[in-house]
Amino acid sequence: MSEAPRREFGFETRMLHAGHVPDALVGARAVPIYQTTSYVFDDAETAAQLFELKQYGNIYTRIGNPTTAVFEERLASLENATGAVAVASGMAAQFVALMTLLSPGDEIVASSHLYGGTVTQLTHTFRKLSIGVRFVDPTRLEHWEAVITPRTRALYGETVGNPRGSILDLEPLAALANLHRVPLIIDNTFATPYLCRPIDWGATIVLHSATKFIGGHGTSIGGAVLESGKFDYGHVPAIADPSPSYHGLRFFDTFGHYGFLMKVRAETVRDTGACLSPTNAFLLLQGLETLSIRMDRHTSNALGVARFLRDHPAVSWVAYAGLEDHPEHGLARKYLGGRPGAVFSFGLKAAADDARAAGRRFIDALQLFSHLANVGDARSLVIHPASTTHQQLSEEELSRCGVAPEMIRLSVGLETLEDLLWDLDQALHATSG
Ligand SMILES: *Cc1c(COP(=O)(O)O)cnc(C)c1O
Repeated sequence: MSEAPRREFGFETRMLHAGHVPDALVGARAVPIYQTTSYVFDDAETAAQLFELKQYGNIYTRIGNPTTAVFEERLASLENATGAVAVASGMAAQFVALMTLLSPGDEIVASSHLYGGTVTQLTHTFRKLSIGVRFVDPTRLEHWEAVITPRTRALYGETVGNPRGSILDLEPLAALANLHRVPLIIDNTFATPYLCRPIDWGATIVLHSATKFIGGHGTSIGGAVLESGKFDYGHVPAIADPSPSYHGLRFFDTFGHYGFLMKVRAETVRDTGACLSPTNAFLLLQGLETLSIRMDRHTSNALGVARFLRDHPAVSWVAYAGLEDHPEHGLARKYLGGRPGAVFSFGLKAAADDARAAGRRFIDALQLFSHLANVGDARSLVIHPASTTHQQLSEEELSRCGVAPEMIRLSVGLETLEDLLWDLDQALHATSG
């Protein structure tokens, strides 16, 4: 009998199939929702083995769940990662990844072009844990190099930085992280694995807010931590040293390249309780199954909107790296095939003392774009960062994050492009008129 032929499946095939075979019991083709908190053990011996991490299996949904496991495996396949741990939100993904790696007194170096909530979490919550963060202008490698110290435990950035849509130069940054033997952590939320796979460029840990384009429908909050399986944690005390909460288990020695993720799941998620619900895992899987088709449409609509705004007399600037004349277009081509997602900002033409008010007039005049604090919905969204998402930041933090008072951030959805252009045009007239 000859062996069945095998094939490396393409991205779209893995979007639909990775991590799941139809249920042997009832033959369900879709991924079932295992809405259960706990699982019956086969016998006392198996239960003991599971608790000691000597055998893989389900114990309690805070630590693992079969529906969630399909979501994890599928996302890991799409990101070319060794595995994934799904969690309650993007904020939880950041928190558990960093909590797993860091100890009091450690530091990280982070890009300053980050999601506002991330800046707040890193600055204030991690400070309470005596973990320091040094923010750098991410556009020049020297800025990163200049603040790395012997206490630096990770470099941190976003593929497409919020809110200005700046593109991180991943390859040299990964080389720098490698030189200093620290992991490079990349939040790939705005790009999604369809447009960019940071692990292919040398990143160690990839984070997602699955709330955004992965879910894609604006229904469910979720997140994930993924790992390359290529980093040597032998010298990282938090992963290599004996764990007091597992009778001295050494995660890196025992689980090798899966050691970091095992520790994320079996310790940090167990202890913080930041697990994803099975129903949300199911809803996020519905999104993942059409990711490529939606991202094609999101990015073609985004380019159409960006070109329209660039040529509009009531607009002073457009920061979309998909435009050929954007200074980071070369980076967008290298890392994202020239399609840097569908979230970007532009500036209203307004007198300095009227900029904030003009922002509010514009948002109130829009009819189709929804004014809300989210991105990556199938519907088009708009926000005025200076008065909302970045409001908690001081004036100085604001300018360091690249937020101007006249700045409007768009998340371009899947609607008919001409309808979006009509809405923007009528609102721009109402603002300047
Ligand atoms: C939304 C977002 C987060 C936080 O994710 P939640 O799912 O809202 O907790 C983190 N990073 C980026 C880039 C985001 O867009």
